[in-house]
Amino acid sequence: MAGGTSRADLARATHLSAVTVGKIVDEMLGRGLVREEETQPPGGSQSRGGTMGRPPRTLHLGGKRRFLAVELGVRRTQVAWVGIDGTPLLPIQSFPTPESVSDWRTKLAEMRLTFDGHADRMLLSLPGVFDAERGELICSPNLPWSEGRQLLEAAADAGGAPVIAVQEIQALALGHRASGRAADSFVLVDFGDGVGGAVMTGGELLHSPLPLCGELGHTGVHGNRRRCACGAVGCLETLVSRQGLLQSFQAASGSKAASWDDLRERVQRHGAEAWLLPSLDAAGSVLAGAINLLGIQSLVLTGDLPGLHPDIGRILTERAVQHSLIGRFGKLDGEVAPRRRIQGLITAAEDYLLQPEA
Ligand SMILES: [Zn+2]
Repeated sequence: MAGGTSRADLARATHLSAVTVGKIVDEMLGRGLVREEETQPPGGSQSRGGTMGRPPRTLHLGGKRRFLAVELGVRRTQVAWVGIDGTPLLPIQSFPTPESVSDWRTKLAEMRLTFDGHADRMLLSLPGVFDAERGELICSPNLPWSEGRQLLEAAADAGGAPVIAVQEIQALALGHRASGRAADSFVLVDFGDGVGGAVMTGGELLHSPLPLCGELGHTGVHGNRRRCACGAVGCLETLVSRQGLLQSFQAASGSKAASWDDLRERVQRHGAEAWLLPSLDAAGSVLAGAINLLGIQSLVLTGDLPGLHPDIGRILTERAVQHSLIGRFGKLDGEVAPRRRIQGLITAAEDYLLQPEA
C-alpha cells in the first residue's frame, strides 16, 4: 500500500464487496489509520467522454502517528524517524554501538534530539535471545552488555516514548511478509554479524515454548574448531557471519590486514572461490536441516553473505535442495531478499496501530 491503492483495488484483492470495503475504509479513516487523496489522472481531470467525473481517490496509510525506529546492531545502531507506512521522514542516522547501556542511552538521546519531532512509540529491534513477554534480553553473545532488562528501560528513557521491541530476525520476517511478495510460510535466514533464522507459518511468526526459535547460527558444524561467542566450539556462525567470513578470507589471502571491503571486492569479482565453498556447504546443510524439520518449501536469504554475489544465494539454495527431502521432490524455492526491518517493526506495532488515535 506504500504507493496508495483504491477502494476498488482493495475489493478485488480481498474478494469483499464494494459496500463492505467501503464500511471498513470509512472506519479506518475515522480512526486516522488511512487517508484518502484525490488523484489527477494523466491528461487532466476530465473523464473519457468529456463529462466531469468524480476524481479518482487513492488510499494511503496515514494518521499522525510517528515512530522512532531503532535497530541495535553489533557494530552500529541505526535510528530512523518514520511515519506509519515506514517511510523515513528525515535521513536515517546511525552511531557506532558503544559497550555499555549508559553510553548507548546517551548516544540515542542525543540522536533523538536531532530529529526535532515527537515520536508516539519507539520501535526497537534487538539481536540475541529476547523474551518479548518479560521485556528481557536473555542472552546476546555479540553484545553481552545489553543483556537483562536495563536496555529497554534505557531505550524508553532516551526515546521519550514507550518501547515496542522485537527480536531482529523476527522483525526481518515480519518485514518480508509485509512486502506483499512473500509466501504464507517461509524460513528466513539472515547472515550478518550473527546468523539467525525466523519461521513464518500461515502468515504468523512461529513461537516456541522458549524464546530460542531460529538459532541456526549456533548449530555445530563437523570439523569446525572455531570458538563461538556463545561459548561453544564449531558453531556455523563462526564460518558465515561477517567476522567468520573475514577470518577465512584473511587465512586464504595470507593477509591479516584484509578488510571486509577487500573481501567484498574479491567475491564480487570472482564469485564463490575455494576458500568460501566449504562454509557455503556447511550453511546449506544447516538450512536443509531446518527445512526437513519444518516442512516449509520457501527459503528466504537476507544479509551480508547472500548480498556479496548472485552465485551465493544460488549455491546456498542448491545445497539446501540437495540435502532436504522437500528439495528431492523439487518443491523448495530459495530467494535472496533485501532486509525490510523497519517495515517489520511497524508490523510488530499493529496492535498499537489499531487503537484509535488520541
Ligand atoms: Zn554459538
